[in-house]
Amino acid sequence: MTALALAPRDWRDSAVCRGSNSEIFFPFAAPGTEAGRRQTALAISFCSGCPVRTECLADALGNGIEFGVWGGTAETERQALTRPMKGAA
Ligand code: SF4
Repeated sequence: MTALALAPRDWRDSAVCRGSNSEIFFPFAAPGTEAGRRQTALAISFCSGCPVRTECLADALGNGIEFGVWGGTAETERQALTRPMKGAA
């Protein structure tokens, strides 16, 4: 008897944004402007109920993705997460 081997599911299969317009995750208004904040907040609201936020954020951080909203974080938040801490070796 052979064991049934199932292909591992990709985390993207469970993404809330799967099949949606990806443009929403790339706000075109300048960061720090009211329009930029509104667009970013809208994208982050999609992520708030996503079951794969952690995987999405890890993927963005691991691949150095600078632009757009990933894993419920804006560009500036990811920059802060990856910025070396002062005094760290
Ligand atoms: S966390 Fe946001 S960008 Fe990432 S897969 Fe989920 S909905 Fe899409």
